[in-house]
Amino acid sequence: MKFSIMRSLDTKQYPSLIGQSVEDLESLSIALGQPSFRGRQLFDWIYRKKVDDFTKMTDLPKSLQEKLKVYSLHPLKILNTNSSSSKKTQKYLLTTKKGMTIESVLMRKKNRATICLSTQVGCAVDCSFCATAKMGFVKNLSVGEIIDQYFQLERLSDTKITNVVFMGMGEPFLNYKNSIAAAKLLNHEKGINLGARRITISTAGIIGKIKKFTKEKHPFRLAISLNGSNHDQRLKIMPITKNQTFQNLLEAIKVYTNQSRKRITIEYVLIEGINNSKKDSLKLIEILSQIKCKLNVIPYNEIDSVYKRPSEEGIHVFLNPFKNAPFPVTVRWSKGQDIDAGCGQLATNINEQYR
Ligand code: SF4
Repeated sequence: MKFSIMRSLDTKQYPSLIGQSVEDLESLSIALGQPSFRGRQLFDWIYRKKVDDFTKMTDLPKSLQEKLKVYSLHPLKILNTNSSSSKKTQKYLLTTKKGMTIESVLMRKKNRATICLSTQVGCAVDCSFCATAKMGFVKNLSVGEIIDQYFQLERLSDTKITNVVFMGMGEPFLNYKNSIAAAKLLNHEKGINLGARRITISTAGIIGKIKKFTKEKHPFRLAISLNGSNHDQRLKIMPITKNQTFQNLLEAIKVYTNQSRKRITIEYVLIEGINNSKKDSLKLIEILSQIKCKLNVIPYNEIDSVYKRPSEEGIHVFLNPFKNAPFPVTVRWSKGQDIDAGCGQLATNINEQYR
């Protein structure tokens, strides 16, 4: 976004500074009558030192601090937080400047603090097991609205964030440009400097964008929500499969892993009677043995829908054949279910829960 000094001095018309790249801030500096290096200083204050008061940015001239006062830093505000009974998971409800609400989740495990960021308000992909899908698509989040979830959660939780997953509300690859720009800002060595291996973008399988991501050679990790062992089964719960066919998706994944030489994470939400038979396990082993991957099985977290979570015994029956699989398998016994912060539960009951 390019800045113009010609804008009226109405703060509502100014973009928030969180979300602006170093080049944007250099342009802003020049527009405000300062040399471009002031923009780099501003970048350092915002992203590395995480100072959110212009008057505390002590190496900026007072005249520039004054001019900056018409800008806000944060595009989001926290409305509410909710903790799981174990206190290890917190769900945050945030609002955009236009009053739209989104959710982000913080999960703690040993030395790790992982946040799950939203990239859209609602989602158009319409997976039948997902709470967000019920909202429909509302809007893409801006780069600032994506990355400010990181700032707000870190500040409020008093925890250093070690990992970020783009797996909250929305499909990151249907907001590709902003999601990638936010990941780059998280990773920027002169700013937040979060390692690329600690940033995961999770997609429902937008094949064109997987190809683009492969071609652009981004260093971030990629995860795919597969959720089925064959085309028809996946189509039943993920209508996107109609155009993004199972076979074409697998081909795109293979090209990605071959070209990037990176291991991809295959997410598999396990739903009773839908995709949890032994036949599914065996088929998955056959398919995934040809791909450099890790399988992450996520027993379904029940929301207000027709789907059920398999029993613990059923989960173990599904997992058993994987004992000798040639790829790692993990199970996410999803955290935070008591606050509806498990996988696929974001956006559920937002309004009731926080009233
Ligand atoms: S699971 Fe992800 S892609 Fe599917 S509807 Fe929910 S938010 Fe969208």
